[in-house]
Amino acid sequence: MIEKIMDDFYRISVPLPKNPLKELNSYFIRGDESDLLIDLGFRMHACRDALESGLAELNSAPERRDILLTHLHADHSGLVNDFIAPGRRIFLSDIDLRYLLRIISGDTRAATHLRFTTEGFPDELLSRIEKTNLTKIYALGVDGARCQGLLDGEILNIGAYRLQTVLVPGHTPGNAMFWMEEQKTMITGDHVLFDITPNITAWVDVEDSLGDYIHSLKKGFDYPVEHSLPSHREPGNYHERVNDLIVHHEHRLEHVHNIIIDAPGLSAYEIASRMKWKIRSKSWDTFPPMQKWFAMGECLSHLDYLRLRKKIYRIQAEHAYIYYPHTPAE
Ligand SMILES: [Zn+2]
Repeated sequence: MIEKIMDDFYRISVPLPKNPLKELNSYFIRGDESDLLIDLGFRMHACRDALESGLAELNSAPERRDILLTHLHADHSGLVNDFIAPGRRIFLSDIDLRYLLRIISGDTRAATHLRFTTEGFPDELLSRIEKTNLTKIYALGVDGARCQGLLDGEILNIGAYRLQTVLVPGHTPGNAMFWMEEQKTMITGDHVLFDITPNITAWVDVEDSLGDYIHSLKKGFDYPVEHSLPSHREPGNYHERVNDLIVHHEHRLEHVHNIIIDAPGLSAYEIASRMKWKIRSKSWDTFPPMQKWFAMGECLSHLDYLRLRKKIYRIQAEHAYIYYPHTPAE
C-alpha cells in the first residue's frame, strides 16, 4: 500500500508478520539525480514482497536509489542487501553503522549473553532465542564499504528536500531522526512513536541507554515540529508525545525502584517478572520467550539508570546480581 505524503514523498506500508509493531512505514523520496528509500523491513518474504510492489508502483529504478536507515534494528535494515544496486550508497548514523557491523560479525553476542545470564536470565531460554533471532532477520553480510556513516547535523539533499541528521541515542546506540526544516517535518524513526512505546534496552558497551534516551527526548523537543513521520503506526502530536514519553519513563523508574524497596535482594530477571507489562498474557510464565527477552532488556536499562544515580546498588550473589535500595543513611 502506498500513500502520498507530499510532492515526490511517499509512504510504503510494509507488514511485520507476527510482530506487535504490525507494520513498518518505509518512506520514498523522488529526487533529481537519485531517489532515497528510508527503512525497509525484516529479511522476510512478506516484507520483501510488499516493498517490491510498492517500489514498482512508484516506478522506482534501483540504479537511482540510495538507502537511508534511521537505525540498525532488523525491521529497518534487514532488506538492505536485496534493494541496493551496485554503486549506490547506504546511509546511517556513524555510531549505528559501526554497531551494526559488530552485531552482524557476532562481536557483541558473547557479551550480551553474559550480561543477560549474570542478571538471572535462564541460560537455556537465551540460547533458544539467540538461535532463531539474529541469523534470520538481519541482512547478514552487509558490505561496510558501501555504507556511509552520518554525523549529527549532517545534511542529505534529495530533490526539494533537505534532511538534517539529528542524532538521538537511546533506542539504539546511534539512533537518528531526520529534520526537514522547510516542511517543519521530523522523520522520527523509532525515537518517537505515538501509540506504542519505543523499547529501550541495555546495550553492550553503552552505560546508560535510558539516560541517553531521556536526554535525546529533551534535545529533540526543541525542534518546531508540526508534522511527524514515525516508523510504525500513525503520526501524532510530537511535543505532547515527547512529554508523555518522559513522564512514562519517570513512572517506570519509580515502579522499578518500588519493587526493589518492597523486595530487596531480587535479580533483574525476577524484577522484570514483577513489573507491569502491556502484553496479552496471563502471567510471566506464559510470556513468549522473545517478549521475556525484550522485557528483561527494558528492565536492565531502568536498573542501570537507577544504579548510576545511586538510587540502588547490586551485589553478586551465587546465581546472579541482586539489587538493593540505597537507604538515605548510606
Ligand atoms: Zn527500532
